[in-house]
Amino acid sequence: MGLFRPNIDRIDGYLPGEQPQDGGWIKLNTNENPYPPSPRVVEAIVEAARGRLNTYPDPLATKFRQAAAPVFGVTPEWILPANGSDENLTILLRSFVDSNDLVAYPYPSYILYETLADIQGGRHERLLLNPDWSWNMSATRPVIDRAKLVFIPNPNSPSGNRWSDDEILSLVPPNGILVLDEAYGDFADQPHRGELLRRPGGERIIITRTFSKSFSLAGIRLGFAIARPELIAGMQKVKDSYNCDTLSLAAGLAAITDLPAMEDNANKIRATRARLERGLTELGFAVVPSQANFVWCTHPTGRHREIYETLKSRKILVRFMRFPQVAYAPDQLLSGLRISIGTDVEIDSLLNQLKTIV
Ligand SMILES: *Cc1c(COP(=O)(O)O)cnc(C)c1O
Repeated sequence: MGLFRPNIDRIDGYLPGEQPQDGGWIKLNTNENPYPPSPRVVEAIVEAARGRLNTYPDPLATKFRQAAAPVFGVTPEWILPANGSDENLTILLRSFVDSNDLVAYPYPSYILYETLADIQGGRHERLLLNPDWSWNMSATRPVIDRAKLVFIPNPNSPSGNRWSDDEILSLVPPNGILVLDEAYGDFADQPHRGELLRRPGGERIIITRTFSKSFSLAGIRLGFAIARPELIAGMQKVKDSYNCDTLSLAAGLAAITDLPAMEDNANKIRATRARLERGLTELGFAVVPSQANFVWCTHPTGRHREIYETLKSRKILVRFMRFPQVAYAPDQLLSGLRISIGTDVEIDSLLNQLKTIV
């Protein structure tokens, strides 16, 4: 009816993974952590709930920032918490992207970047990755040179591979900002804690982190950005005054001050990841070695949708994904399954079911 802005009319909107509201599912589709968060987190939420819910939260999230900063070797002015890492991605677009500005991101990767760029009304271009998920630098370089904002998830999704620090530094746009989305950073064999920000070229990198994956807190909406104080101060002007609520901030503070609890879970997930990679390979899948809490696999039959549907009928949810316009794939379409790392018991059930399907 022409009431909406044209760029909103044009898009379908981002479609998140299925979140069934009934029980009994083995849920391996949205990269949640199968283990509960630190017990201290639950205590902190209960304590905060008993406190002063009638007053607004600290708009600057002072205590949380003071606790998060040393983990990344920075001071609190380098930290910007948000209502989930996805809110920080929105704040980044609103902070840096005008209607003629170019937003770029690897493809295939996290599709939300494109949706958010569309909503903001920026121009966007995909940086088409090679079939082995490496960069095609000669095609990528000219786009980077023109980009205002470049989003790079590292480890990448859905592939789970991690690019080297030198590659990341070489992708900082000369006249813009590189957003390094480290949603899965803690699952890498050698996790980073902000080192890139201190290397030459790191002045225009903004790292985004989330509590949803490694900290087992997808149900609490909390993430944070880490960058030079000048960049954080500008983004602060864009955010809602009270973008993080009292309960989330209490949870985040407890979680970030109990790193061993998170690391124990990440270790378990790394071990189960190796088990899943082996099992899938034995079943004839091609598997990308993963540094994240999920594995991307393809089967030579290409019948990924069918495998996904059959698993779903047996109450196991994985993510069936298809990426059109991948020039190198047959029919210009890449499809496959992204499987989140569950517990050993969940992964064994999945592998047993897969044995009867493929
Ligand atoms: C899960 C995910 C996020 C979102 O994190 P939230 O804090 O839950 O909003 C951001 N980026 C990537 C690549 C993710 O996979």
